[in-house]
Amino acid sequence: MLTVGIDIGGTKIAGGVVDEQGSVVSMERVDTPIDARALEDAVVGMIARLRSAHDVAHVGVAAAGFIDRDRSLVYHAPNIDWRNEPLRERLEARVGVDVTIENDANAAGWAEYRFGAGRGVHDMVMLTMGTGVGGAVIANGALYRGGFGAAAELGHVRFQRGGLACGCGQNGCIEMYASGRALQRAANEVADAGNTGAALAEARAEEGSISGAAISRLVMAGDPGALEALATVATALGETCGGFQATLDPELFVIGGGVAQLGDALLAPMRAAYRASVPAYDQHPHAEFKIAQLVNDAGVIGVADLARTAA
Ligand SMILES: [Zn+2]
Repeated sequence: MLTVGIDIGGTKIAGGVVDEQGSVVSMERVDTPIDARALEDAVVGMIARLRSAHDVAHVGVAAAGFIDRDRSLVYHAPNIDWRNEPLRERLEARVGVDVTIENDANAAGWAEYRFGAGRGVHDMVMLTMGTGVGGAVIANGALYRGGFGAAAELGHVRFQRGGLACGCGQNGCIEMYASGRALQRAANEVADAGNTGAALAEARAEEGSISGAAISRLVMAGDPGALEALATVATALGETCGGFQATLDPELFVIGGGVAQLGDALLAPMRAAYRASVPAYDQHPHAEFKIAQLVNDAGVIGVADLARTAA
């Protein structure tokens, strides 16, 4: 049985037809319109095109936002003008087929659990280090959604009291200390401090700012300043994972998003900080850390599979 998965991102909407093994049969991308109605039209158009070429049973749509426990209402979306938006009903009325809606980080976490780095475990936490920090919790083989549907907003766990203001309206959230943007900030701080920051300062002088690509290049070359900046971010997230261990006791943490492309250079300091932060009772088991495997298509694959499961 084929299903369609649509992942509404900040700049692109990705849509794919996905089979039962999580393989993408066809994929397309369009720019994300800013206006909410134009965005809905773009999603409906994409679903129609994908369905015209394939025999599709159900449709899943993923977006950033708080979605209610019944998976029908978007309470709030950070980037789209949806407030208590009955998205499932609206889409079903327009496309004439069952629609499943899901938070985008949950969809990506589900994809890793079913078809990626999380295959074979029952309890895992996914953390996506992109512009912000996304989270998903798989508990006993199911997505953990909480009492109101908005569980696993792990990026908004407070890391520092009185800390940096976050887009969610709070301050000190871990996403302000462990995202791609946080890595750029840490790199600037290392560059400003002199000493190990010479190569980062040079990159900034050449390009006007320190890009994620420049940081990656320097990390891969073993530059001590870039590694120091990365360790700052990895340590913040690793310490927070110690808290997640105390709460959720996962067997595995899967790390995704752009920063995860740094691989072991990211995971090594994260693991060390995690181990120093897990409840320190004798014989407390330690979870594994792995890099996500599905990269760009995780949201599409995950929400397509959830649509199949809901069917
Ligand atoms: Zn926040």
